[in-house]
Amino acid sequence: MELIERIKNDLKENLTEYRYIHSLGVMEMAEELAKVYNVDVESARIAGLLHDCAKYLSSEDKISKCESYGIPVSDYERKNPELLHAKLGACFANEIYGVTDSEILSAIIWHTTGCPDMSLLDKIVFIADYIEANRDKAEDLPKVRELAFKDIDACLLLILEDTI
Ligand code: FE
Ligand code: FE
Repeated sequence: MELIERIKNDLKENLTEYRYIHSLGVMEMAEELAKVYNVDVESARIAGLLHDCAKYLSSEDKISKCESYGIPVSDYERKNPELLHAKLGACFANEIYGVTDSEILSAIIWHTTGCPDMSLLDKIVFIADYIEANRDKAEDLPKVRELAFKDIDACLLLILEDTI
């Protein structure tokens, strides 16, 4: 089975319907952005689809899984275990789906917090997570969506300002 199809089947079983539909939305938005910014479309689709693949774990399971993978858990993460779904998602991507591309794994790791010196793919997945078609909470979404396709760095800055 094609990797994307296999991942979709698994996510459909593991994630809530809301999260599954969101994951498909991020995959599609990441693909659109990848085309505009000349990033590998397949990488963008896989990173977008997998970005929340570890989200279904309970907080306790997130912490214990990190410990079993040898991922250090900071005090801040221990208080906010939800954050760990990003690092765990990259572990699952590698372990369960055989993703070895460090660009894809990086985009999954940084999709929640961002980081200094983000790659284009990191930015694309971060932004796609915020603006995918099923999102409707943020007030300035129309503006952010428009900016995403025109000036990716200005878009990133706007999202970071909104979320901090
Ligand atoms: Fe997430
Ligand atoms: Fe997400």
